[in-house]
Amino acid sequence: MTTDCLFCRIARHEIPAEIVHEDDEILAFLDICPIRPGHTLVIPKQHFPYFEALPPEFAGAITRFGQRLATAMKCIYDVPRVAFLFTGTDIAHAHAHIVPMAAPGDITSRHYIVEEKVTFKTPPRRPAAELVETGEALRSALRETLAESVSS
Ligand SMILES: [Zn+2]
Repeated sequence: MTTDCLFCRIARHEIPAEIVHEDDEILAFLDICPIRPGHTLVIPKQHFPYFEALPPEFAGAITRFGQRLATAMKCIYDVPRVAFLFTGTDIAHAHAHIVPMAAPGDITSRHYIVEEKVTFKTPPRRPAAELVETGEALRSALRETLAESVSS
């Protein structure tokens, strides 16, 4: 099934995105308003509104790619951990967020915050040139993780 949702249009290359990885099943591209540099979205190329609707092969492909990307992110960003999550709060096309966690609060819940009043904002949109540079760094690191997994 295809639709005109934003992520289907990105998957069809109708809307430009800084693509980190693409194969027959999935597409990974940079979030333009990243929590941290490298914040990537991974989608099935077919339209499934929420992750619980994903057939196992798509869920598996997204998870396996997330593992590869997390390994690459740990190399280039020197972070202790990488977050992988489906939230389904904005675009109704299943997508995993993969975020290098430079600080424990990078992915959190309002319920862990003591202060009563918290103000939220969208992180700033990053310049196109910076996204291209980040994309190249991730693609390069992914090629290295692939080479390592083939040689070991
Ligand atoms: Zn879609």
